[in-house]
Amino acid sequence: MSIRWRLTAWYSGILFVTLLLFSLAVYGFVHLYTYDELKSRIQQQYNKIRPVVSINADDGGLVFIPDRSSVLRMEEADFYVQTYTYHNQKAWQSDNMRLRGLEYEVPSMEDGQKQRGFKSIHVSGNPFLIYQDYVVLPNTGQVYGWLQVGAYTGTSENTLDRLQSILIMGTLATLITASTLGLFLARKSMKPIQKVADAANQIQKGTDLSVRIEYDGPQDEIGSLIGTFNDMLSRTESFYKELDDAYAAQRRFVSDASHELRTPLTTIRGNVDLLHKIWTGPQGDRPDLDEETLRQISAEAIGDISDEAKRMTRLVTDMLSLARADTGQTFEKVPIALQPLLIEVIRRAQFLPKTAAWSAGDLSSLNGVYVEGNRDYLQQMLFIFIENGFKYTPEGEVSLDVVLYRGQVGIRVADTGIGMAKDEVPHIFERFYRADQSRGATEGTGLGLSIAKWIIDVHGGSVEVVTKLGEGSTFIVWLPAIFAPPLE
Ligand code: ADP
Repeated sequence: MSIRWRLTAWYSGILFVTLLLFSLAVYGFVHLYTYDELKSRIQQQYNKIRPVVSINADDGGLVFIPDRSSVLRMEEADFYVQTYTYHNQKAWQSDNMRLRGLEYEVPSMEDGQKQRGFKSIHVSGNPFLIYQDYVVLPNTGQVYGWLQVGAYTGTSENTLDRLQSILIMGTLATLITASTLGLFLARKSMKPIQKVADAANQIQKGTDLSVRIEYDGPQDEIGSLIGTFNDMLSRTESFYKELDDAYAAQRRFVSDASHELRTPLTTIRGNVDLLHKIWTGPQGDRPDLDEETLRQISAEAIGDISDEAKRMTRLVTDMLSLARADTGQTFEKVPIALQPLLIEVIRRAQFLPKTAAWSAGDLSSLNGVYVEGNRDYLQQMLFIFIENGFKYTPEGEVSLDVVLYRGQVGIRVADTGIGMAKDEVPHIFERFYRADQSRGATEGTGLGLSIAKWIIDVHGGSVEVVTKLGEGSTFIVWLPAIFAPPLE
C-alpha cells in the first residue's frame, strides 16, 4: 500500500472514530435530556394527583378515582391518566384517553411489584412513557388499585430519529469529503517525493549525475529534502568527476611511464646484444675489427648501459615519489629555521655538475624566520629548481636569493639560460612534460617540477614563474613564514 493511501486510511479512520464518538455523545445527551426531563414532569404530575376513595354502593368495596380538578390540570399538560381498582376490576381513564380510545395495560397482582416505576410502552401503536405504582390504603397498607400517568413520546422519538439520521448522514458525508480531500492532499504532497524517487531511480539505472530535481515550492521538510538531495548529487557528481580525472591522470601516468622506461631499456638491450655478438657469438658474427677497437666499442656500450641504468633509477625514484604523493601521503612537519637550511643548500649546490656560474644573495633577513615543514623535502624541492637552472643554462649564471613579503618568504632561483616560450609555462608542472627545446638537448624525466609542486602544495605554499625564451627563467617559491626572535 502506498504512503498516500496509508495516510488517507489513517486520517479517515481517526476522523471516523472521532465523528462516531461525537455523534454518540450528542445523541446520548439529547436522548438523556429529553427523557429525563419528561420523566421528572411525569413524576411531578403523578405526585400531584389526589386520589379520592369512595365506597361502592353495590358491594361496599373501595373504589378509587382521582380528584377531578387535579386531573384536568394535568390534561392541559398532555398527560394521560388511568386508574384501576382491583376490587371491581374497573379502569378509569382521563378524558383525553377516553376520547382517543386509549387504555394502558394493567399489571397483574402477582407481578405488580416488578412493574412499578417508569416503563416505555405502546398503546394502540403509539409510544408512551408511563409512571405507574400501587395505590394503597394509608392505614392498612392494603393494595386496592393502580395509578398510571403517562405522556405521548412520539414527537420526541421522531426528533431523536431525525437527529440520528442527521448524525449518520453527516458523519458519512464528512467522511467521504474528508477522505477524498485527504487523498488529493496526500497525493499532492507526495508528488515531490515521487520526483526524488524517480531521480534516484534514473541515477541508479544510468550514469547521469547531472540530474537535478526541480522544485519551486516552499522550504518546508520536502523543500529541504530536495535541497539536500540536489546538494548530494552535486557533491557526488564532482566527486565522480575528480575520480574520473584522477583515473585519467593515472592512466596517462602509467602509459607515459612505460613509454619513458622503454627508451632506456631499448638502449640497454641494443648494447647488450652488441656486447653479446662481440664477445660470445660465433667467430664469423664478430665485426671484422681489431681487438683494440672492439674493446673501445665495448667500453662505450657499457658506458651507455650504465647511463641508461642511472636514468632508469632516477625515473623510478621520481615515479615512486609521485605515486606516494598520489596516495595522499604527507610527511611530518616541524618548524625549520630557513637560514641554516639555505646555507646548506647553497653549499651543496656548488658541487653540482654545471656550466654556469653559481651565486647566492644575502640571507641575513632570514634570521629568525621559520617555516613549518620537512627539511629533506624542502631541500629536495630547492635542488629540483637549482638543478634545472644549471641544466637549462649552458652559460651565464644561476643565483639564489630571498624576499620577505606579507608574512611569506619567497625563495628565488633565477637563471640566465634558455628560458621558455609563454605557451609552455602552464604545462611545465605536468608529469613527463618537457619543453621542446629541452628534449634531446638535456637529460631529464619531466617529473622534477611535478614533484616540486607537490612538495610546495603540502607546505601550503605557491610558486611563481617569470621566463622569456632565450633570456632565462626565475622561479619564486612562496612559503608561509613563522617569525621568531633572531637566533643571535
Ligand atoms: P626535466 O626532467 O625535463 O627537467 P622538470 O619537470 O624538472 O623535468 O621540468 C619540466 C620542463 O620545464 C623541462 O623539460 C623544461 O623544458 C622546463 N624547465 C624547467 N626548468 C627550466 C629552466 N630553469 N629553464 C628553462 N626551462 C625549464
